[in-house]
Amino acid sequence: MLIGGHWHDDGPKFAVFNPATGDRVGDAFDGGAAETAAAISAASSAFPSWSGQTAFKRAEILHQAYRLMVERKEELAQLLTQEQGKPLRAARVETQYAADFLLWFAEQAKRVYGDILPSPRVDQRFMVLRQPVGVVGAITPWNYPISMLTRKLGPALAAGCTIVLKPAEATPLIAIATFRILQEAGVPDGVINLVTASDPAPVGKMYLEDKRVRKITFTGSTAVGKMLARGAGEHMKRISLELGGHAPFIVCKDADPIYAAKGAAAVKFLNTGQACISPNRMYVHRSALQPFLTELTNRVSRLTVGNGLDEKTGVGPLINNAAVDKVANQVRDAVDHGAELLCGGERSSNAELVNGSFYEPTILANVNPDMLIYTEETFGPVAAVIAYDDDDDVIAMANDTAYGLAAYVYTNSLSTAMRYFEALRFGIVGINDINPTAAAAPFGGIKDSGMGREGGREGIDEYLDTKLGGFSI
Ligand code: NAP
Repeated sequence: MLIGGHWHDDGPKFAVFNPATGDRVGDAFDGGAAETAAAISAASSAFPSWSGQTAFKRAEILHQAYRLMVERKEELAQLLTQEQGKPLRAARVETQYAADFLLWFAEQAKRVYGDILPSPRVDQRFMVLRQPVGVVGAITPWNYPISMLTRKLGPALAAGCTIVLKPAEATPLIAIATFRILQEAGVPDGVINLVTASDPAPVGKMYLEDKRVRKITFTGSTAVGKMLARGAGEHMKRISLELGGHAPFIVCKDADPIYAAKGAAAVKFLNTGQACISPNRMYVHRSALQPFLTELTNRVSRLTVGNGLDEKTGVGPLINNAAVDKVANQVRDAVDHGAELLCGGERSSNAELVNGSFYEPTILANVNPDMLIYTEETFGPVAAVIAYDDDDDVIAMANDTAYGLAAYVYTNSLSTAMRYFEALRFGIVGINDINPTAAAAPFGGIKDSGMGREGGREGIDEYLDTKLGGFSI
């Protein structure tokens, strides 16, 4: 843990395991309420001088952190794969994505502008100033454990906030490595604080109850996000929430089904399906169904499941055995309710993988609303396919979910693309595009998928208060 510029070297620890092998990768200190309170004190003491720095100085430090992260990309990616399981190639991509947020917000730091407004009175002037909110309490998940850190640290630091961050229990090591880089880049003592913990509840409680924390930023499940939002309401704190999703993936009758199946195979099995924007329901126009399923099955059957450290691996393990059980249960339930299993549908039988949390890439056809998978976030390597006949019906079905994070549409018609883009009630829509994300783009959802945006021009706004000055002259 990093508190007030000092790394803890004493106290109880918890172990971190490689989900591909079950081997212990390392340990992290087990923090609780006392460490969180100390970290909040450090962040609070550091706030006046950090927020008083010029934006240019803060940008320079973020630029340096970006350079260090890119320089150490390979070493970070190796650690990420061992701790989280994703294939090395994906770990390198995620590490670059993480670095991109540092670069983007280094630039955005210098673009926090105010406003001079006209007044109805001749003897009055208005000035609008944007100031950092203060101490931020952040909580991040394990599925994208380095990019979710910098997506919060980048804008918070750029805006002039100080921060306490708790990473997921499964992935504290990559957080430690990231904080070391920021410290080496010149972030002053107390500005960034890291509390690792096996029990997250006391940390969240302290963020809510300590009056010095003015903003909470959370990425994780909808259940925990709602609990934090209730607490933030009670204590009147700002909050932004990046939560779960249940993305529709629609293949229209005018789409190329082969191209759409290629996209579906790539995006569904990315990070072993453990992504908030992973397609959960694939709606395919009945006329395109057969070629789509044939191509998807061909591609998915060829995916290589294995240890992410092996360069040949296309699909890594799930994060733990509980995640495997959840996926197996959804598949069983779907088959019991009439789904057709086209491939996969079981734990990996490869003898080399028995100690890891592996599940075979799976395709289910004939999925219907009576199945768990139709409404529950899967977070695993299962493509669930549903045939549809009518545009209006499929838009209604796609929108019929409590979630509102990402949606995907394949079409070769500009007017169909525009119609779906406007009608789908999701924060992000990929049109013939399976990766509608970048540091420069606003990421976030509506409804049960959360509130607020990360990245883009909007990302820094979450860490700024607006102040109005009225000047009588
Ligand atoms: P999670 O169980 O909600 O955990 C997320 C973080 O919250 C972890 O650091 C966790 O700590 C912590 N946490 C859990 N209970 C808490 C409590 N009572 N008080 C304070 N903190 C608490 O979610 P997850 O399984 O790690 O992540 C998967 C979810 O995140 C999925 O639903 C996914 O869709 C969502 N996600 C969303 C986005 C997005 O941008 N919208 C991005 C990535 C993931 P522990 O690890 O110690 O339990």
